[in-house]
Amino acid sequence: MAQIGFIGLGNMGGPMVANLVSAGHGVVAFDISADAVARSVDGGAMAAKSAAAAARGAEVVITMLPAGAHVRSVMVEDDGIMDVLANGALVIDCSTIDVPTARDMIFEAGKRGLEMIDAPVSGGVGGAAAGTLTFMCGGTSSAFGRAEPILKEMGKNIFHAGDAGAGQSAKVCNNLMLAIQMIAVSEGFGLAEKLGLDAQKLFDISSTATAQCWAMTSYCPVPGPVPSSPANNKYAAGFTVAMMLKDLKLSQEVASLTGANTPLGAHATELFDAYAGEGNENLDFSAIIRHITDQ
Ligand code: NAD
Repeated sequence: MAQIGFIGLGNMGGPMVANLVSAGHGVVAFDISADAVARSVDGGAMAAKSAAAAARGAEVVITMLPAGAHVRSVMVEDDGIMDVLANGALVIDCSTIDVPTARDMIFEAGKRGLEMIDAPVSGGVGGAAAGTLTFMCGGTSSAFGRAEPILKEMGKNIFHAGDAGAGQSAKVCNNLMLAIQMIAVSEGFGLAEKLGLDAQKLFDISSTATAQCWAMTSYCPVPGPVPSSPANNKYAAGFTVAMMLKDLKLSQEVASLTGANTPLGAHATELFDAYAGEGNENLDFSAIIRHITDQ
C-alpha cells in the first residue's frame, strides 16, 4: 500500500480520497477549505497543514484542483510540492486543465527527478463516489504503469492516451463533442415540440435510430424519457454549466493554438457563455435546452 498525498478535496477529490482510504492506502490530505479537510479526516485520511506538508514523505501525490493556475501554484510556486518530494516520487494530476500547463508541469517534474502523468477524469461526482471513474492519462509508459494500480482504486476504465498532455487532449475533445451533442439533442426535441411530436415518441425512435448518443439515451435534456437525467430534478447538477463552459473555453484555446477548425465548438461556447451569464452557472449543463428552446 502506498503513502499518498492528496490535494484538492472538493466534490470529486473528497470521494476519491475515501476510496483510496477504503483500499488501505495511507492518505495525507490538504485543501484550502478546512471543512473539506475535516470531511476527509472523518473518512480516515490524515490532515496536512499545507500542500507541501501533504507531499513531504509521500511516494505518490494526487491533485484534484479547479484549473491550471491552481495546479501550477501547488506544484511549483511558493512552497510547491515538487520541491519537497523525494527523487522518484510520482505525481498524478487528475484536474481538468489546459494542455500547455499539463505538458509544462510534466516537464518541470522531469527536471526534478520526479515522474508525472496528467490523468483527468470523466464520470462525475457519482463516478467518483462509486469508484467507477474513467481516467485519461498522458505521460511515459513507466509513469502510467506506476499510476495505473492506484487509479484502479478510484476508477473502472484507465486509458493511456499518449505522451504528456494526451489525457487533457482526450478530455477536451470528449467534452467538446458532448457539448455539441447536448445542443443537438436540445434542438431536436425543441423542434419536435413545435411540430406537436411527443417527446417520448421522438426518444423511442431516435434512441434506436441514427441520432442515438449518450446525451440523449443517458442524459436526456427533456423530463420523462430517462428517469435518472437531471431534467427530472429541475436540472440540479450533475455536471454544471460552469464546468462545461470551462471545458469549452479550454477547447477553443487549444483549437486556436493548433489551428484546428471547430465552428460548432465555437458556437457551443457562445451559447453556454450566454446561458451562464444569465445566472445559470450552477445548473446541470443539460439545462442548455432551456436557452435553446426559450429563444
Ligand atoms: P471543487 O471546486 O468541488 O473542488 C476543488 C477543490 O480544490 C476545492 O475544495 C478547493 O478548496 C480546492 N483548492 C483550490 N485551490 C487550492 C489550493 N491552492 N490548494 C489546495 N486546495 C485547493 O471541484 P470538483 O468538482 O472537485 O472538480 C475538480 C476538478 O475535476 C476540476 O478540474 C473539474 O473540472 C474536474 N471534473 C469535475 C467533474 C464534476 O462532475 N464535478 C467531472 C469531471 C472532472
